[in-house]
Amino acid sequence: MPDTLAPAATDTIELTRALVRCESVTPREAGALQLLEKVLKDVGFRCERMDFTEKGADDVANLYARIGEDKHGNGKHFCFAGHSDVVPVGDLSSWTIGPFAAELSGGYLFGRGAADMKGAIAAFADAAQRFVARRGTNFGGAISLLITGDEEGPAVNGTVKMLKRLADRGETIDACIVGEPTSSKRFGDMMKIGRRGSMTVDMTVRGIQGHVAYPERLDNAIHRLSAIIEALVREPIDKGSTHFQPTSLQFTTVDVGNPATNIAPGVAKARFNTRFNDLWTSKTLLAHLKERVDKVNATLGGNGIVEYQVSVSGESFYTPPGQLSELVAGAVRDVAGVECELSTTGGTSDARFIRSYCPVLEFGLVGETMHKVDEKSAIADLKTLSRVYETVLDRYFAA
Ligand SMILES: [Zn+2]
Repeated sequence: MPDTLAPAATDTIELTRALVRCESVTPREAGALQLLEKVLKDVGFRCERMDFTEKGADDVANLYARIGEDKHGNGKHFCFAGHSDVVPVGDLSSWTIGPFAAELSGGYLFGRGAADMKGAIAAFADAAQRFVARRGTNFGGAISLLITGDEEGPAVNGTVKMLKRLADRGETIDACIVGEPTSSKRFGDMMKIGRRGSMTVDMTVRGIQGHVAYPERLDNAIHRLSAIIEALVREPIDKGSTHFQPTSLQFTTVDVGNPATNIAPGVAKARFNTRFNDLWTSKTLLAHLKERVDKVNATLGGNGIVEYQVSVSGESFYTPPGQLSELVAGAVRDVAGVECELSTTGGTSDARFIRSYCPVLEFGLVGETMHKVDEKSAIADLKTLSRVYETVLDRYFAA
């Protein structure tokens, strides 16, 4: 653990800084959870390390902390979920301030994780501390923090397994906020009530290799693949739905690797990723795309074969607008004076796992600099976020 620990538990800014100083690039714990555990224990949380291992994946440290009535299933267990791991710094020489120095400058707190999402963890821990100081531990329910060290990585040994362990022992969660940096341009302007699904498909197209001078004897895999690509991207997949933007399909690579000038290749490969809305499941979408491919493949004649390798990192989901989104939007309105848009844009997050257990939404800081050099959060936003979380707790556990 760095020697800069033991900040006042009540200070969002100092706790964020202490967390940023832990170089917890996935899958390293780097003292971040240890620090958080100490702070939460001081507040009265029961802390439990849930560290998981699995063959083929890195060992990951996770922390589950809970305070309040121990009764299971009383309908009032509010969970804050987050990740203490951060993405690598990238090109270190491009940073104008040390990525793990946690410096304050010009009204901002700089550093890797300031926005995504150590700031939100600190804001919530601070909010819970103030809440418990006022209400005591007998507030008619439970508050928990479910913090993983494996969100930016493969997400195998983190939230998924923590949720399963809780469920296995009969511990239910009734509502959850994930502290991802969902605000778009200014603090509080956006929350995420769902996310698009994500599917990556590797296609291998097989024709017949041959001498370029004898086209009648070959079946050029590049020509076949280019027609297939065209068939997949020319027509939009859909027009979007009530809560989602249209499904997108982007090719990310095309590979042939043919050094010869006189050989037409028999094999060509390509990869695309789709971010799909709630009109599809990965299964129905894949079937639809294969249909498009089969159609064009058939019109080309010959015996061209297309093989697929599919990996789905998440299905699309959303929590219908209702109690939870109104609770958060109301708190944002009253604390920050901002109207919070309900959105499903952006990449995936661990909310995709939590949604199988309870209503979940994501709300946090401005995400503009996440994963970039000179990641930062406005100091004022960090404080406001903590007050929003505290207001959410107050209203959720209204006497
Ligand atoms: Zn994140």
